[in-house]
Amino acid sequence: MGFTVLVFVLLWLFQILFLEKFYSQSKIHDVDAAATQIIKSFDVDPKSEFSDKLAKIASENDLCIEVVDRYGRSLYTKEYSVGCIIHGKENGTYYYLKRITDNGNKPIWLKVNNPNNNCSTVLYGCSLGSQDFPSGYLLINTALVPVGSTVSIIKRQLMFITGILIVLAFFISLFVAKRIAKPIDSITEAAENLAKGDFNTKFDGRGFLEVKKLADTLTYAEKELSRVDTMQRDLIANVSHDLRTPLTMLKAYAEMIRDLSGNNPVKRNEHLEIIINETDRLSLMVNDILDLSKLESGKQKLTPSEFRIGEKLSEIISRFKGISEKMGYSIHFTPDEEKIVCCDVVKIEQVIYNLINNAINYTGEDKQVFVRQINRPDGIVIEIQDTGDGIEEDKIKLIFDKYYRSENHKREVVGTGLGLSIVKAVLKLHNYDYGVRSKLGEGSVFWFKISSKDVTDVQDAQ
Ligand code: ADP
Repeated sequence: MGFTVLVFVLLWLFQILFLEKFYSQSKIHDVDAAATQIIKSFDVDPKSEFSDKLAKIASENDLCIEVVDRYGRSLYTKEYSVGCIIHGKENGTYYYLKRITDNGNKPIWLKVNNPNNNCSTVLYGCSLGSQDFPSGYLLINTALVPVGSTVSIIKRQLMFITGILIVLAFFISLFVAKRIAKPIDSITEAAENLAKGDFNTKFDGRGFLEVKKLADTLTYAEKELSRVDTMQRDLIANVSHDLRTPLTMLKAYAEMIRDLSGNNPVKRNEHLEIIINETDRLSLMVNDILDLSKLESGKQKLTPSEFRIGEKLSEIISRFKGISEKMGYSIHFTPDEEKIVCCDVVKIEQVIYNLINNAINYTGEDKQVFVRQINRPDGIVIEIQDTGDGIEEDKIKLIFDKYYRSENHKREVVGTGLGLSIVKAVLKLHNYDYGVRSKLGEGSVFWFKISSKDVTDVQDAQ
């Protein structure tokens, strides 16, 4: 509205108040330009050409021109201006020539009122040739047509336009305010709610694209904040819950050693063994939590390197040799043709390790675990199979979730409920497919596929 008012103030000033001034100034400018042209051409151009030029200048600029010789005899007369005072007035030429000579042959500018039509006129006069011995004189006259009627027409027009535009400006500002200010106001309010911790706030991005973008960005920020918040809460709740059990056991067994079994080496060792196992469990849990939180924070970057997948699988399996021999587990490895893969070896090792570890923990009475490398055109599939109870259909979706542990898991199975979450996070980071096939009573097959873009033949690599 302010801008519209400013535009109209300027329009009124220039069109109404200053119009007359502008008009007479532009007339004076025309006369001045015509005089310069005539002075230049006088005595230079041939007579007929000079006369044509005068006629052209006079008609184009609405002027009345008189050129006389040094004795005041008319040489050229061009009369185009209405109400000429040079030719209209008796002895007009003589009178103004006298004014020039009285002025020492220097140019004169006069604004004269024409008594015939009561109009103002501008008169310019100067000597031609040298000032001391002029070869002639030039007189130019033009009428200043009154602009009063024009001004009153413009005034009325402007009044209409002002009215229309002020109403328009009012509605446009209302519309713009509605489309920009209102949504931004509501977004600000929502952002304040978000800052207070309300993650269900809706960012309403109606209106312009930029406002929509702002709302989308804030919605995204809200989602991320809410995710981090939930993760933090989960972590604290689960960690404190999971830490409590081993800590209670540690305390209980330490007290038992102090009060009861301190002097009984057999019992004491038994209790100490439990304390050591629980401590292992604790450190495993803390390590898993740290690994997973690093992976999930998105800060963890992959450091890919090349290695032989068959060799790596054998090496990991051999790490389970101790437990296999001690507890009677058999891990059967079916390799395929050796391939070089390029991925984050440490993290993929952890995936394989976690899967074999789970297979050992959950396999059946026969204590058999099968590890297979299957080369396919679209990548290398690694399968880890056990002969355990299998997983119910509806639980398969949950097992990769953080802290999920089946209710019927045996406590002697050392686990944190984080193993598969780590597997999932690593494989997702690599963009590798993974999954489970399971049949109740027959066991499960956990698999993942190293995509073909990360696989090369051994001979190619050499
Ligand atoms: P943890 O093994 O520490 O409990 P995981 O994340 O590795 O945690 O596994 C989550 C759950 O998935 C386990 O508690 C178990 O119920 C189920 N699970 C994992 N591997 C197997 C398997 N090979 N056979 C049957 N159930 C499994």
